[in-house]
Amino acid sequence: MKRTAKTLAVKGLGTPLGSNSFISRRVLRALKMDYGPFQRNPTYLNGKNSISCVSVDFDVTRPSRFEDNRNGTRALLGLAERYRMPLTWAVCGHSVEDDMRSYEAILQSPVPKEIGIHTYSHIDAQASSSESFKADVERCIQVLGLNDRPKTFIFPWNREAHFDVLHELGFRAYRGARRAICSPVETNGLWNIRPVYYVDQKSLGSADLIKSYLDLCIEHFAVFHLWLHPWSIMIDGQAEPMAQTLDEVFSYMQEKRNEGTLDFLTMGELAFRLDVASPKSRAQQERPQEVRSRPAENFGEATRGHGPVDLTLVDPSRGDEVRSSH
Ligand SMILES: [Zn+2]
Repeated sequence: MKRTAKTLAVKGLGTPLGSNSFISRRVLRALKMDYGPFQRNPTYLNGKNSISCVSVDFDVTRPSRFEDNRNGTRALLGLAERYRMPLTWAVCGHSVEDDMRSYEAILQSPVPKEIGIHTYSHIDAQASSSESFKADVERCIQVLGLNDRPKTFIFPWNREAHFDVLHELGFRAYRGARRAICSPVETNGLWNIRPVYYVDQKSLGSADLIKSYLDLCIEHFAVFHLWLHPWSIMIDGQAEPMAQTLDEVFSYMQEKRNEGTLDFLTMGELAFRLDVASPKSRAQQERPQEVRSRPAENFGEATRGHGPVDLTLVDPSRGDEVRSSH
């Protein structure tokens, strides 16, 4: 689908139900996005309309991505600093061992950040036993040398499994595989903070489309969650073209924050707010701490390639309205 059509479709969703809504929601389904559930005026929003999260999967799953990962990391840190944008880093332990310099740059960045876990060896959770998965996650935590237990987990390839292990290890948040405009939902004992948009090279020049998604999230009190890889924003070894697109998006996000309609949080901070607002939650209600860490120095085996996110299509929760609006 052409980008202009996508933008119009997403913009149309922000309008009251009418002829545009029929077209727009159909288009949104064609974009393979879920729509809802929504919680109106939820307390965790702290008076804002929406919360944004930006999660970054730090993983070098092919040797050819090493330089792109390093340069993309540097570009993202620059953008985060410019806009005081807290990033949620989902870090692969093995990739850290291979590039301590980039990891140190993340830790030393003056902007608040969260270090989440992306496993040690980029293990496929669905293809692993509970024991080997747990050992891999614990190895990652040990390599990263975090002072506090990590709160956010991102599944390699977004392949979800072993939630009991994650809950046992104290994780509170994860990023589900399926994209959605929605409020977070606690499933399997963790908060699923679902992604809205994956930023990669194909997003070049898509700032208007991404901004339209943000408008939609603000309208519906939904979480605006972008995710990316440092290497996924590099084009022919250059960070600048995609950095310009992201700069435009972050600038718009800052505008919304200044207007008082948007808050920037890490996934761990958002999960903490959700826990506080949900007394029935199985939360430990432990506020995520500012990261200080000492990486270990051992080196491990090579990791595997990175696959696409699962974008299975399902009906939006407001399907009836879609039909009635026709
Ligand atoms: Zn990954």
